[in-house]
Amino acid sequence: MTAPLHPDTVAVHSGRSDLADLGVHALPIDLSTTNPLPDVERGGDSYEAMATGGRPPADGSLVYARLWNPTVARFEEALAEMEHAEASVAFGSGMAAMTAVILAHTNAVGKRHVVAVRPLYGGTDHLLGSGLLGAEVTYCHPHEVAGSIRPDTGLVVLETPANPTLDIADIAEVVRLAGEVPVVVDNTFATPILQNPIDLGAAMSLHSATKYLGGHGDVIAGVVACGEETAEALRRVRAVTGGLLHPLGAYLLHRGLATLPVRMQRQQENARRIVSWLLDRPEIAEVFYPGLDGDPHGILDRQMRGTGAMIAMRMQGGYAAASAVASGTTLFTHAVSLGGVDSLIQHPAALTHRPVPAEARPAADVLRLSIGLEDADDLIADLATAFAGLAPAAQSLGRMTVPVESRSVGIRSRL
Ligand SMILES: *Cc1c(COP(=O)(O)O)cnc(C)c1O
Repeated sequence: MTAPLHPDTVAVHSGRSDLADLGVHALPIDLSTTNPLPDVERGGDSYEAMATGGRPPADGSLVYARLWNPTVARFEEALAEMEHAEASVAFGSGMAAMTAVILAHTNAVGKRHVVAVRPLYGGTDHLLGSGLLGAEVTYCHPHEVAGSIRPDTGLVVLETPANPTLDIADIAEVVRLAGEVPVVVDNTFATPILQNPIDLGAAMSLHSATKYLGGHGDVIAGVVACGEETAEALRRVRAVTGGLLHPLGAYLLHRGLATLPVRMQRQQENARRIVSWLLDRPEIAEVFYPGLDGDPHGILDRQMRGTGAMIAMRMQGGYAAASAVASGTTLFTHAVSLGGVDSLIQHPAALTHRPVPAEARPAADVLRLSIGLEDADDLIADLATAFAGLAPAAQSLGRMTVPVESRSVGIRSRL
């Protein structure tokens, strides 16, 4: 028996065990949309196996790339290993992944109810609340999960650390409260480097791979790590609905995995430096970052190996100060998304969480920072410059108007 490999090693080597036999060193890319069929019988059997969520038979054909793609499967194998899961299933976006998870655990199995623990990423909140997928949703706090479960509940949705305010929920406790109902944990913010929800009893760990896994801001993708049985259900939905990840995207994600541990470590170091600087600034009313309250219930200690590189902060000067700082930085790009090598700043209530109903939407004075790989001193200087640009008047004016609340008409009503 050899000892299990450490995560840094897995990140570099996973999904590559057959490369030497293939006589190549870099990850191959297979762009075929269709594949030769050995004969009608074996072609048909292969189609049947994969359209129902299975893997391609050894003596068969891959048939058609909506059913199976070797480059995507290679990335899935690597991500599964990093998440301590039997399998993973990749999609064309994080939202396509969440859609497949909801469909596979509601409509497809005759259930219609989902319990969703808030806060959630705005798109997830919106997808659940829109009714588009035919699911009925109860939103609740972590401790209310058991009381929210009904006989027709097919899924519990949890996100921790949550977007945008970094709320931490106890994964093992939510799994316990959910009883027999499978729990999906959106692990986008923590990545498999800092947290493995499946080790804590979650049925699925979902990522917007667009963020840290890709890490370079050039791929939109989603992936769900889970057991093989759940993977079959998800592949079935994917084959039918077509929310595929393109092989070029899978290649970039797989390549990005190798540097994920060092990116995460360095981005987290930068974030911690910036958090301690922010805590002393008069422009800041509150900083949101895991562990700032000292982890009184020991949750961080039990489920995370680090606190990550996402920060949220409430500005003293309300919305006016928040919007001025969002457009006042140079190194921090004013843009949505997160988890890349370069730092980003954005206003959640106006952008990423705009579709969330007002009662659950982040406050108008909150900004979210995604900390990248730049030198922390340069990032701090950039924020200091943006803070210095705040007119003293903006601080008092900001409290008088709440334009985000009043202007956000609810995308829900337009669907
Ligand atoms: C961005 C994001 C999503 C959605 O992913 P896309 O790849 O944009 O579809 C889901 N969850 C979280 C936490 C996110 O940040």
